[in-house]
Amino acid sequence: MVKTLDSHPPSSGQDALKAVPSWHCFSEEEVLARLETASVGLTTAEVEDRRAHYGENRLPGHQPLKLSTIFFHQFLNPLIYILLVAGGVSIAIGEHEDAVFIFIVIFLNAIIGTVQEWKAEQSVALLQGLLKTYAQVKRDHHTVQLDSTELVPGDWVLLESGHRVPADIRLLETNNLVVDESLLTGESLAVTKTFAPMEDAETPVSERTNIAFAGTTVVAGRAQGVVVATGTATEVGKIAHSVTTTGNTKTPLIIRMERFSTKIGYIVLAACALLALIAFYQGIPGQEVFMMAVALAVSAIPEGLPVAMTVVLSIATSRMSKRRVIVRKLMTVEGLGSCTYIASDKTGTLTLNKQTVKALVLANGKSYKVTGEGYAGDGTVTTSDGTPPSSDEQIQLEHLAKAVVLCNEGSLHRDEEDTWEHQGDPIDIALLALGYKLSQVPQQVKKRVDLVGEIPFESERMFAAVFYREDGALHVAVKGAMEAVLPHCAAMESATGEMDRDAVEAKVLELSSQGYRVILVADGQLEESAAQACLKSQTLPSLTFLGLVALIDPMRPEVKEAVHTCKRAGIKVAMVTGDHPATSLAIAKQLGIAESWENLITGAELSELGEPDHPQVLEKIKNTAVFSRVTPLQKLHIVEGLRRLGHFVAVTGDGVNDAPALKSANIGVAMGSGTDVAKDTASMIITDDNFASIVAGVEEGRFAYDNIRKVIYLLISTGAAEVILFILALLAGLPLPLLAVQLLWLNLVTNGLQHVGLAFEKGEADAIRRKPRDPDEDIFDRQMIQQTLMAGMTMGVIAFVAWYVLMQLGWSEFAARNWVLLLMVLLENVHVFNCRSEAHSAFSVPLKNNTLLLYAVLGAQGIHLLAMHVPVLQNILHLEPVSLTDWLYAALCASMILVASEIFKRIKARTKEA
Ligand code: ADP
Ligand code: MG
Repeated sequence: MVKTLDSHPPSSGQDALKAVPSWHCFSEEEVLARLETASVGLTTAEVEDRRAHYGENRLPGHQPLKLSTIFFHQFLNPLIYILLVAGGVSIAIGEHEDAVFIFIVIFLNAIIGTVQEWKAEQSVALLQGLLKTYAQVKRDHHTVQLDSTELVPGDWVLLESGHRVPADIRLLETNNLVVDESLLTGESLAVTKTFAPMEDAETPVSERTNIAFAGTTVVAGRAQGVVVATGTATEVGKIAHSVTTTGNTKTPLIIRMERFSTKIGYIVLAACALLALIAFYQGIPGQEVFMMAVALAVSAIPEGLPVAMTVVLSIATSRMSKRRVIVRKLMTVEGLGSCTYIASDKTGTLTLNKQTVKALVLANGKSYKVTGEGYAGDGTVTTSDGTPPSSDEQIQLEHLAKAVVLCNEGSLHRDEEDTWEHQGDPIDIALLALGYKLSQVPQQVKKRVDLVGEIPFESERMFAAVFYREDGALHVAVKGAMEAVLPHCAAMESATGEMDRDAVEAKVLELSSQGYRVILVADGQLEESAAQACLKSQTLPSLTFLGLVALIDPMRPEVKEAVHTCKRAGIKVAMVTGDHPATSLAIAKQLGIAESWENLITGAELSELGEPDHPQVLEKIKNTAVFSRVTPLQKLHIVEGLRRLGHFVAVTGDGVNDAPALKSANIGVAMGSGTDVAKDTASMIITDDNFASIVAGVEEGRFAYDNIRKVIYLLISTGAAEVILFILALLAGLPLPLLAVQLLWLNLVTNGLQHVGLAFEKGEADAIRRKPRDPDEDIFDRQMIQQTLMAGMTMGVIAFVAWYVLMQLGWSEFAARNWVLLLMVLLENVHVFNCRSEAHSAFSVPLKNNTLLLYAVLGAQGIHLLAMHVPVLQNILHLEPVSLTDWLYAALCASMILVASEIFKRIKARTKEA
């Protein structure tokens, strides 16, 4: 399908459209005419037509690896080479059955590996599907938020700071729009965009200043424009193959594990070589020794470890996504388990970000109550004792309401079904609701004035302003934080008109301490030239103070419990916010994050203390739980400071300016409702914005790490058991206890199934109560070494004793091997249950928590029993059926590993208490 506009066929003007349109040269009228669209947006019918023609607005994504590629990948493994050699040798010496079996083992191993890697690939692909971007589009006269893939050429799009540009857009209205085009041009300096048509049709793409290109990001400002190209027709689409990033699935832990497996591999190889030497001197035939050494090496080397870990991590990511945590890189999963500090935003993360105006204070100092809940215009404004305001007061209240309705980027209106529809920043919507309550219906108020220019709200500016003309005069209306607006207030709307800053400050403090977010409202009149100067420099002129708006933002109900959980888990929680200190502290106190002013510092105070890495600053950061009136740059410094203090920091962010802090943190957490820029830099995304979900993520991270340890414990200890059995048998001068094919079989039926089962373990309840783990901690710590030796020795010795006794009893080698192999399978079956918890009794972990593991164990045992009865396998594996009594004896012997492990855990628990 052709997706460029040069072949755009609808109704007319086809000839004019033949050439590739130079969108940057056309005037606004021409652009709109050619695209047959208007500033009120397309209609649904038009959109459907165009979608049918141009297709979806998406780029060919990350191509998941093909199944066949993954399968062939499995053969690029030194262990497989060894087996291949062994297979070749078997053929050469005429052991055809052995050879066939070895090739079957290679094949089955490859299939198991493929299934595991495929699963991991799938979950990576799934994660990418969850990461959607949205665009603000005008459709059927209304601004709506749509999945970016739904855009078609001709769509009217609104851009604001933080947005990722969803398609190639010819800009038709801009307000200080600054765009980061580094993705497209490699140029890291952000560029300013305008809307004026350009002269030269040949202007290179990178210099087309009136086009915002898909994939670039808006750093500041606002703009509107029309989509001129979507999907592969966009500039980025043309180079799509070079920018689609492939998800790197190898995490540091996995890389470390790969090295670790190699190391263990060498040790095992050395041990096998040594064993082979001993065996050889004891007169065992050379080819038998060779096969034994190969089989033992293959069984004992934990080659499946890195893949098994990828599986554990990818299971964790899908579990996390169910708990509203989307991990962008597998690496994050293991990192989460080490998190020692969560620096959280306030608005939206700890609170619901459902702002409602509760009270007003006019310049005369009088307070008013506002009724009505949520984003709806129903409610009234009364004096604090419930009586209606006087007509004088009513005029002043309406004056204030008019200012906040004009200086507003949101929308709130009643639709045909009489429900309230809203769009935009929660504070803006709440202020529009106030407008309705004071009969300042936004659409009507806006219609009465002519807009001259706007300074949109940005976090670091902390105010918004609008310049407009009404009745021949030029006005400005301003709303914002006290610190940003009050210094510009020269007069106030009171009896004397004289500005009393102290009184205003006192009132703000009073309201903030009660947990209100306070917005200052002011307006003014000025000359055209002064207004233009202000717009250019994005500063405020001299203003008249109108009053205060106090908003309440309810706390998220789950957060208090989550903060408590963090404390138990040894994780410090801090609030980092742009809000007023008193408001922040009031909320922090209620959530149990802070106790008093001692725990709070403002961004300004922190900067005054000195350079970000000054010891005094670090000391202060260490003892602070609430950082208020913090700028994005200070947020970055706080994160860097915390890392210097040795913390493993998770930090939340939603704005464009949060990107540096998100990047610098160990774990950058973006909010689902946040900007695309934040999501792009973060390592994980919380889809419901909720602080409690971060804690859920930490918990899953710890579970995942625990599961990795469990799999390692199982793999290494069973490998060790096999090696120990052989060493002991050889030292005792006994024949080889298992044949090469039997060893390979053991490895295949037990490990193949069981360690995958173990990867699905549910977490243990106490995981979240432990101290965070040191990120550099060696997985092979004391606990791991001790338990591996304990289990490996116990199993090895049990099997050896059995072999010894059977030999003494005069069993045939054939029958004895048959029984010892059964014993080994059973031992490993039982030992999986020991591995389900490192610290707690195997009986304390409910079976229903992991039915898959149960099936895996039953499956492994079942397959082995089957093999004992199927003639072909009997021949290859040298097996025969055993009586029920013999089976029970074997099971009884195998259960000793359970007893040993239970005793070991008891002793460990006791020494820990002591
Ligand atoms: P937070 O960390 O609480 O999200 P913000 O950076 O969003 O802080 O806001 C900082 C301050 O800017 C707020 O305390 C408030 O006074 C002011 N403010 C927030 N939103 C708006 C808005 N839409 N218009 C004007 N001022 C705002
Ligand atoms: Mg905010």
